[in-house]
Parts: sequence; structure tokens; C-alpha cells
Amino acid sequence: ASTWAAVVAGPPDPILGVSEAFKADKDPRKINLGVGAYRDGNGKPYVLPSVKKAEEIVDGSKPDKEYLPITGLAEFTKNAALLAYGSESEPLKQGAVSITQSISGTGALRIGAAFLARHYPHAKVVYLPVPTWGNHIPIFQDSGLEVRGYRYFKKETVGLDFEGLKADLQAAPEHAIVLLHACAHNPTGIDPTEAQWAEISDIVKEKKLFPFFDMAYQGFASGNTVKDAFAVRHFISQGHQIALSQSFAKNMGLYGERVGAFSLTAADPEEKARVDSQLKIIIRPMYSNPPLHGARIANTILSTPELYTQWESEVKGMADRIISMREKLYNSLQNDLKTPGEWGHIKSQIGMFSFTGLTAPQTKVLAEKAHIYMTSNGRISMAGLNASNIDYFAESVDAAVR
Ligand code: PLP
Repeated sequence: ASTWAAVVAGPPDPILGVSEAFKADKDPRKINLGVGAYRDGNGKPYVLPSVKKAEEIVDGSKPDKEYLPITGLAEFTKNAALLAYGSESEPLKQGAVSITQSISGTGALRIGAAFLARHYPHAKVVYLPVPTWGNHIPIFQDSGLEVRGYRYFKKETVGLDFEGLKADLQAAPEHAIVLLHACAHNPTGIDPTEAQWAEISDIVKEKKLFPFFDMAYQGFASGNTVKDAFAVRHFISQGHQIALSQSFAKNMGLYGERVGAFSLTAADPEEKARVDSQLKIIIRPMYSNPPLHGARIANTILSTPELYTQWESEVKGMADRIISMREKLYNSLQNDLKTPGEWGHIKSQIGMFSFTGLTAPQTKVLAEKAHIYMTSNGRISMAGLNASNIDYFAESVDAAVR
């Protein structure tokens, strides 16, 4: 018998499964709203012009292909930290931020989870929002942490369950780890307001919780990288020590290049150096050192003032196109078609995704009858909508809910 005869088939990834069903559909009207990657106004993948320019600069410098250090390109991580924390950040100014390059956001989360599993001096329990990005759960579980949930989404209002969130964090054991989406919460598209963040920060302090921020969409939520960093910077200003995962997949469109960073704020440079040494010990046997190319591109953008300005306007362009699709979809459903139900959340939600409130059976009908694909929780990637398909989408949703 084969060595692997007893291996049972696992379930397919729920998001990649949507893409496969979409690919197999031959109808010309088909729409894929499953995958979280930006599409331009023609429904095509978008390589940012600032990224193309940065790539030319990198190529022009005829760089070698030597190994990077374990923690990656030092100039890149320095600039990534500045983007997240801001130049006025006390821990940055003091040289107390330990940071490493990572295999995009997923890799950053995994390094962080592994570090917590090994060095966090309290019970290794992490609270994730319900719902959260599906991959959060196995990332933390596979790293050996116990995963629990805190309330986040309120079905009745298709909004934030702020009372539930506060009650669950208040009821968590002291020193529990809490994962917070820094902006553009995936999958709901619902973020706390700045005043709500301040309250969350107070509870985290009072209960001595440890905040782990996942910032996968800096710039993508509002179109402004500083505004989107509000939660992270507020927590730092309140004296919290944090863990932070950063991804450049969405805001630079560098998905497949796998560019990210993981950081921890330490008490001082001496403690930071000890944390650095342990990050290296975690990373070395995982993948030895990170890839070069994407980090060079991101660093060229972050360190070249003209390119940085251009990139910021391109991020804003992506965010604005999504916001305009939200307006258009809301108007079609609410005003033109008078679709049953309340659709204000389409407009108020933030970032790449919208939690439409469509039920699993309705999403099935949309796939089978209208060739429109989304995850069964009713989440749509707003970036998959454009001028050519949004009317068809709105009409199909209208038909599906009547
Ligand atoms: N965190 C969240 C909330 C995400 O939505 C994603 C991607 O969809 C990631 C992290 C990680 O993405 P990547 O590993 O491509 O940077």
C-alpha cells in the first residue's frame, strides 16, 4: 500500500473554491466577487504605475541576488515601521521597535504567533473578532495558541456590535492576547470609530490585554495612510506595547511578491536587541531569510519622495474607485430598484469588502442563476465591481432577495 493511503482529503479553501467555480462558468456575464485583490475599472488586475517605476529603478541599479539577512532588507523595515508608526512615534524615536521583514501579512502573523507561543509570559489565549479573516484561526492554532472569539458583527444592524465587543473583552481573562484589525476589517468592512478605538484602548489597558494589530490594508480604507494608522498610533500614544503585522499586498498591489513586516514594541533598545535575537531564532528554521525583489520595490517607493507621493495618490485612486462603487450600488438598490431591505451599510462599510447581509441560500441562487460568485457568508469584494457589471449585479441581487 502507498505510504499515504490513510491521508484523508481535506476541505477546499472556501475563497479559492469560489474562484474555481467562477473559472469553470462560461457565461459572459459572470462576476467574481470572492477574491480580495483589487481590480481596475475594466475588471483587470492593476499594477500600480509607482510600482512599475520603482521596478525600473531597481533593475537599473543592476542589483545582485545575494541572500538577505534573516530579518530582511534593513532599509525596507525601517521605512515600513515609519509608515505604520509615524516619525513622531516614541518607541521608534527611542530605537525600541523590533521589526523583521516577513512573507507578506500572513507570514508576519505567523512569526508573531510563533513568538507569542514561545515568549509570551502569560496564558497563550488569543481573542479574534467574530467573524474574522478565515486564515487567522489556523494561523494562531497551528502556532499553538488557544483561539477564542469576541463579538464584532451585529446581524440586525449589519454594523459593529460594540456593546458585545466591550463585554467580551471585559470578560476575557487578564493578559489575554487580542487580535485587532487596524483598519478595513475583513470580512465585514466595519471599523470602530476613533472614539470607539479610544474606549477599546482603555479596556485593553484596564484588563492588561495584549494587543496584536493586523494592518493588511493601510491606505486602502480611507485612501490615506495616516488616517488608516489611527488605531495603531493611538494605542502607542496610550503607552501600550503592541505586536503589528503589516502587508504591502493590497496597498502596493504586490500580492504575489509577498512583502510584509512584523514588529513588536519593546521597552528600550536593550530589550529590543534581545527580542530581535529571538525573532531570528524563530525565522531561521522556518524559511531562513525572506525574498528580495518585492522588498526592494516597496523600499524604493517608501524612500523616494516623488514616488512616495505618486504611490499615495494611487492608493487613494483605488480607495476612491471602491467608494464610488459603494455609492453606485447603494443608489441602485435603495433608490432605483427599491430592493427590499436596508442597504445603508453598503455605503458606510470600509475597504475592499462589503458584508452584504445576503444569506447563504441567496448567494447560491446568485451563483447558479446569475453567474455571480461570492463567499457563502455574503461577503463581496467591492473591487470586483465596475461600470460594466454593477447594474447587472444590482438587478441580480434585487431578484435574489425578492
Ligand atoms: N490579514 C487580513 C485581514 C487579510 O485580509 C489578509 C489578506 O487577505 C492578510 C492579513 C494577509 O494577506 P497577505 O499574506 O497576502 O499579505
